[in-house]
Amino acid sequence: MEVMSKTPLASRMAAVQESATMALNTRAKQMAAEGKTIYNLTAGELAAETPDYIREHVSGKLHHNKYTPAAGLPDLRAAIAEESRDFYGLDWIKPQHVVVTAASKPGLYATLLAIVDEGDEVIVPMPAWVTYMELVKLVGAKVVPVPLTDDFDIDSQTILDKVSQKTKAIILNSPNNPAGSVFSRPALEALAEGLAGSGVTVISDDMYAKLVYADDFVPVPCVGFEQMVIVNGFSKSQALTGWRIGYVIAEEHVAKAIADLLGHITGNASVTSQHAALKVMEHKNTPPPDILKTLGRQRLMVDDVLKDAPGIRYHLPGGAFYYYLDLREITGDTLDWCERLLEKTGVALVPGEAFGTSGFARLSFVTDEKTLKTALQKIKSFAAGGKDA
Ligand code: PMP
Repeated sequence: MEVMSKTPLASRMAAVQESATMALNTRAKQMAAEGKTIYNLTAGELAAETPDYIREHVSGKLHHNKYTPAAGLPDLRAAIAEESRDFYGLDWIKPQHVVVTAASKPGLYATLLAIVDEGDEVIVPMPAWVTYMELVKLVGAKVVPVPLTDDFDIDSQTILDKVSQKTKAIILNSPNNPAGSVFSRPALEALAEGLAGSGVTVISDDMYAKLVYADDFVPVPCVGFEQMVIVNGFSKSQALTGWRIGYVIAEEHVAKAIADLLGHITGNASVTSQHAALKVMEHKNTPPPDILKTLGRQRLMVDDVLKDAPGIRYHLPGGAFYYYLDLREITGDTLDWCERLLEKTGVALVPGEAFGTSGFARLSFVTDEKTLKTALQKIKSFAAGGKDA
């Protein structure tokens, strides 16, 4: 019997797009299946396996199988509150401000559902992680893009100029995906000052705040924003992407709204992952030293090879694990350039179009060293081929 598609999709689905990175990833996988050697530098997750100390701890917790409160295990909320008070120096953070979430994506979505109405505006500095745009559209609000500066800092005046009566929130992400930059203290302070009394909430996505190389890193929440929500998690700091565990910190009534929403959407985050997070908090969510060492080494390896690559410009990343390569001297169409790079050399990067800025490509340096070294040489030779390579 022929299968008919009878169920029409809701109109909101028109707003949600498949990630622009997917097509290239699918092609990379297809090429690998055909037996080609692929050098995949698109990863948004660490190459390391679950750290041993987490495995050992959780193996003794597997008898826990019941629902937990939607906002998370009380001990975990308390541990996150304590760690966040210390890390940010924000005394107001108490357990009732913390909601444990099934990783940061639902945390971010529930935050937007809780504070943004249909027709509102949300300012997003670009380039930006793709999911922000999709989630803002999903709640029926409008994305107002503003460019980051040439060195991928925020420009407070450009942001403030875009604040309107409809602006409900600004999403800031430092260290930044895809740019790898950290926002400077003066720019953040100027923004905090300019937003005072505006009623606009800053949503700080701190996913990479524990993966930092810059000495002068200032977490966004530390500069005195009046209204703020912190979205965070353990995916990147502990190589736990698949365990789906994160948290949101917000004013008490916002935190309660988020927990109420998630109680109906995801329910509690996996109890096993919550026990892992409790253990992680004993270590202040510090990434395992071997992970940091590898990242530090591979970050410099990229610079070593690409520093004299023709036509490729970049800033050394201050955090996260990405280089955002500026290819504008070579091409304006990085979607096409990345496709040709993949076809000719087997190296997969994410074109800047996926993050709202063409002319760039995101290189993730979380892979094994041999793959990284070979891939970098291939990128360099391909770039040397110039416009027509
Ligand atoms: N925020 C940023 C900036 C990210 O890059 C990612 C992962 N790509 C996430 C959030 C999602 O993290 P999680 O696994 O906690 O949902």
